[in-house]
Amino acid sequence: MGTIVYYTTGLLVLSVFIFIWLERKYPYTKGMPVFRDGFWVDLIWYTFIQSYFLKIFIFDYLIEPMRRSWHLESMHWLDHWPVALQVLLFLVIHDFYIYWFHRAQHHSKLLWRTHEAHHSNKEVDWLAGARSHIVEIIVNQTIEFAPIVLLLGPNSPVVAIKALIDAVWGMYIHSNIDVRSGKLQYVINGPEMHQWHHADDKSVFYSNYSTKFAVWDWLFGTAYLPGRKKPRVFGLPYAYPRDYFGQHWFSVKRFDEEELVAKYPLFRTYHLSRLRLAKWIFGGIGWARKLGLAGSPGDKPANGGRMGQRVVESVAEGTESAI
Ligand SMILES: [Zn+2]
Ligand SMILES: [Zn+2]
Repeated sequence: MGTIVYYTTGLLVLSVFIFIWLERKYPYTKGMPVFRDGFWVDLIWYTFIQSYFLKIFIFDYLIEPMRRSWHLESMHWLDHWPVALQVLLFLVIHDFYIYWFHRAQHHSKLLWRTHEAHHSNKEVDWLAGARSHIVEIIVNQTIEFAPIVLLLGPNSPVVAIKALIDAVWGMYIHSNIDVRSGKLQYVINGPEMHQWHHADDKSVFYSNYSTKFAVWDWLFGTAYLPGRKKPRVFGLPYAYPRDYFGQHWFSVKRFDEEELVAKYPLFRTYHLSRLRLAKWIFGGIGWARKLGLAGSPGDKPANGGRMGQRVVESVAEGTESAI
């Protein structure tokens, strides 16, 4: 599998640049910056750090022990199939599974705790889909890759090809691109329906669960596509932590991040460390703002403005002593 990973990684990086370029050229929501709010949390924490450790955990500590004890590879059930057909088989089966699991996450209060992180971005672009709770990734990726590794072996090219398709299709459905795919939207899922899935709008909370094939939504009566109308607001209807660890702790215990910032000096120091680091590196708040590392003075927190946000703004403006 060694060489194929170079190709799939190259294609992945190339796709990122293509998506960013298309988002600039044909934006779904106009005026969204490349470094939108939450960009760095999604890139550094979810895309690089979380993915790196979860890949090791899922493949080496969950799937590998199953492979060693069950020996399903020796049955050679799919070995004679062409790789393209093997990929298609696992693509369709997993996509069908994920439709129902995703639907359950929106209907169960407990499962929603593992999915709300994915809906928390207020601006949805090619990277927004990377934001997924640890439990959600462990469950979905184990169910996705265990059958492939167990039946075809860990070195099958299907693993790398499937991972690339997941990543590119994931970027596509979340991308801020004004795609008009016409009748193809009945089969291939894209931003037209998935941007709506991320809307803060009651009429779509129980709709558009499909990931790759939109056909599941049309078949099972959950499709929502109101012509050319676009959502006005995205994200969650309640205040949600901006910090990676806060986002995971919030799924276990509800708390108000802004109040913690205002109340506890230790938490405030931790919470503001990135902002202070950005100010220090860029020698001021201007560049930190351009890169999405600090909010703008006009930004209001999702909960309507509390003491904590005033503290954050004061650090950004360099008037912390006034608080
Ligand atoms: Zn969802
Ligand atoms: Zn999504």
